Amino acid sequence: MPNRNACLVVNAGSSSLKFSVFQGAGKADLEAVITGQISGIGTEPLFEAKDAARRPLAKENLARTGHGERAAMLGFLLNWIAARLDGAKLVAAGHRVVHGGTLFAAPVALTPAVLTELEALVPLAPLHQPHNLAAIRALAEAYPELPQVACFDTAFHQTQPWQAQTFAIPRELTAEGVRRYGFHGLSYEYIARRLPEIEPALHDARVVVCHLGNGSSLCAMRAGRSQDTSMGFTALDGVPMGTRPGVLDPGVLIYLMREKGYGADELEKLLYHKSGLLGVSGLSNDMRALLDSDDPRAAEAVELFCHGVAKQAAALAASMGGLDALVFTAGIGEHSAPVRARVAEKLAWLGVALDAAANRAKATRVSAAGSRIPVFVIPTDEERMIASHTLDLLSKTSRIAPDIVRAA
Ligand code: ADP
Repeated sequence: MPNRNACLVVNAGSSSLKFSVFQGAGKADLEAVITGQISGIGTEPLFEAKDAARRPLAKENLARTGHGERAAMLGFLLNWIAARLDGAKLVAAGHRVVHGGTLFAAPVALTPAVLTELEALVPLAPLHQPHNLAAIRALAEAYPELPQVACFDTAFHQTQPWQAQTFAIPRELTAEGVRRYGFHGLSYEYIARRLPEIEPALHDARVVVCHLGNGSSLCAMRAGRSQDTSMGFTALDGVPMGTRPGVLDPGVLIYLMREKGYGADELEKLLYHKSGLLGVSGLSNDMRALLDSDDPRAAEAVELFCHGVAKQAAALAASMGGLDALVFTAGIGEHSAPVRARVAEKLAWLGVALDAAANRAKATRVSAAGSRIPVFVIPTDEERMIASHTLDLLSKTSRIAPDIVRAA
């Protein structure tokens, strides 16, 4: 495919690196031609890739390199991709970066100065931001001329009114950045674009979007702009998740510190890895496994999840002064009809009613004909959003800092 541009999308986590390659002549016709991941970085690196039709292209164990493993993996990946571009030109890389702080309300072309600013935000997202930035640096080392763009999970929420962003704590702390930021912004932005394409009458509607995955949050949006969201300073707040508790009385933390001698590391482990669906069920963090189980603890975990989601949805409707539509997205939101049904049941008083057959069939519109609130299932696509932003920024900027390398 000569004369076509390709864009690499990178989502780098602590032990995995998910990637996609999008190709297209312009933003409108972007196609994900390759998707894949390198998992087990630091233990047993495994490379897997699929083509546009999700057919396997590769699955191989990679040799461990010890120091600089992430850079080596990215080098391998870029070489592997280059051999499969079929005449297309890799013009840029777009990264999912968890935190843009208050500085970045939109995607940004990466320069050494921007990297320094993002480095300063590491304390706000210590479990994610360092891995995002390590991938950017590693790619810059290997391909110094390749323009790179950062797309933030927080940026979409910058439009929120101050009441939604502010904790009721002393002002000095708020001024230091202890405030609500919100996450999953790229997913919400994608839904904000898709919903009016599906139902044009909803272009200025008050919508609650339930992004329910391993990490889950909800967003209140009006006319496609974020008004409020369930996650706050970190990705811990809001609804119960795979291994995170969601909203938790902060007094519990003081109790654990005073009475049980918990330190920061133990609290972090408890809140990020041992709670949520896993903690309550004692079985699994995976919603599918819990729905398939007949253990009563699994049923309790699912019920606690649905209770939390319905409660947040109602709170966010109150935050906007009403509700015109409800959207489910991400792994659980897209695939789990029983969870959607249970949440909808709990929101019946708001005028939500599902069509059971449409819900089971995962139709785009799953509400009953008489439902006051239309309900949609819309598959999210954060990677497409990143590719789209990256190419957009590339076309608006004649030259994006090819000197990004070695900013450390
Ligand atoms: P992440 O936050 O890691 O991106 P995903 O959006 O992929 O997570 O969602 C993962 C969750 O989606 C898991 O709890 C998984 O069990 C759930 N899920 C995926 N498919 C189904 C299904 N068919 N039924 C119920 N849950 C599902």
